[in-house]
Amino acid sequence: MKCHEFQDLIGSYLQETIEEPRRELFEEHFFQCRKCFLGLKINETLQNKGVRILLEEKPRLFSFRILRPVLAMAGLFLVILTSALLLRHDRRTDRLRELAVFDLPLYHQGEMRGGAESNARLEAEFTRAMRSFQDRDFRAALQILEQPEFRAAAYPKYDFFRAISLLGNGEAEKAAGILDRIIGSMDPAYFDEALYYKGFALLRQDRQLQARAQFAKLAGMLSPMSGKARVMVRKIDEL
Ligand SMILES: [Zn+2]
Repeated sequence: MKCHEFQDLIGSYLQETIEEPRRELFEEHFFQCRKCFLGLKINETLQNKGVRILLEEKPRLFSFRILRPVLAMAGLFLVILTSALLLRHDRRTDRLRELAVFDLPLYHQGEMRGGAESNARLEAEFTRAMRSFQDRDFRAALQILEQPEFRAAAYPKYDFFRAISLLGNGEAEKAAGILDRIIGSMDPAYFDEALYYKGFALLRQDRQLQARAQFAKLAGMLSPMSGKARVMVRKIDEL
């Protein structure tokens, strides 16, 4: 797709009247062309003004059900019930774990979203890290991306892919912290994707309700990620 075609389609895309085959080409161009990416982002931001992004989550309240002494007498019943519940819990945990497996975010060699980084050595290292990343070898990617120079660069691209690598490596809490910073900075380059993957960080912390709320928020936004977010809301509801 050419830039001028893209520009002509922005309106129908945001109104969701675009036809399916063109929508795919449109989204492909969106991730490949920085100029059009930012063009769409500005339109989107104007239309999304009403959507508030909440970063802080309220502390969770637990309610504990206290077993009455009467129940204690029905010992056998309780044992059966408990094992049934445990079994159900196991199955649910398995499904939750399945759900927490995520598709890798789009990455293009020499990724330009968020602008160019002038440090050529870091860029070369980053490209090397991304090779491991795309093989889902997150540990190897992190060995590179966790170097102090990458942290010090505080560059959205490095931060974003470090966060996703952490997520893949089972460090959901650290990942969530970085994603929150990207979301908070409202940097359009990785904003939507940070919202999306924050949902996975929550899932991996067994915070199913918050994860659902996170995906629902993105699903309600005008974003190329909203379709994927809607799918996640549905899958969580089906758990
Ligand atoms: Zn373009």
